[in-house]
Amino acid sequence: IKPNDKIITSDLTFGQYLHNGIIESANVVGTPLKDGKFDLNNILQEIDDTTSLIWLCNPNNPTGTYFTHNELLEFLKKVPSTIPVALDEAYGEFVTAHDFPKSLELQEEFKNLFVLRTFSKAYGLASMRIGYVIGSENIIEKFNIVKPPFNIGRLSEISAI
Ligand SMILES: *Cc1c(COP(=O)(O)O)cnc(C)c1O
Repeated sequence: IKPNDKIITSDLTFGQYLHNGIIESANVVGTPLKDGKFDLNNILQEIDDTTSLIWLCNPNNPTGTYFTHNELLEFLKKVPSTIPVALDEAYGEFVTAHDFPKSLELQEEFKNLFVLRTFSKAYGLASMRIGYVIGSENIIEKFNIVKPPFNIGRLSEISAI
């Protein structure tokens, strides 16, 4: 993220997307929820040449709503492959709906999609500060550039395993 890059998300979602965008001097645009859900069409309309990241939260925190596999698939087909799409599934383990996205399948097909999961919620390990990302090599390399050294303690690692 460079200063003034556009980051697109929803206006009522996990606050850290906005917070971290502000730290990077990005232009964070939150599109309105539609029927309490992320409005993926509205996000598509916001994409322009300055867009360098899209943040999706599914199920959304704090509304608890979700978008479906087909909705996400149609969305990803229209997002330029140069724009990374972060899919935050912090609450994914709680979902029982059959039409919830099979995000790892989609990640195989769309290399600009990366999926974030955490051990903080379903596993109750918030104080261990451990989670993971699944993405293409290209994207993981970018994480490695900004990831602090010695970032995960042994106790956290053992807990997660
Ligand atoms: C809790 C939460 C996180 C952060 O998880 P940590 O691994 O504890 O940093 C990320 N995204 C959402 C939507 C959350 O609710």
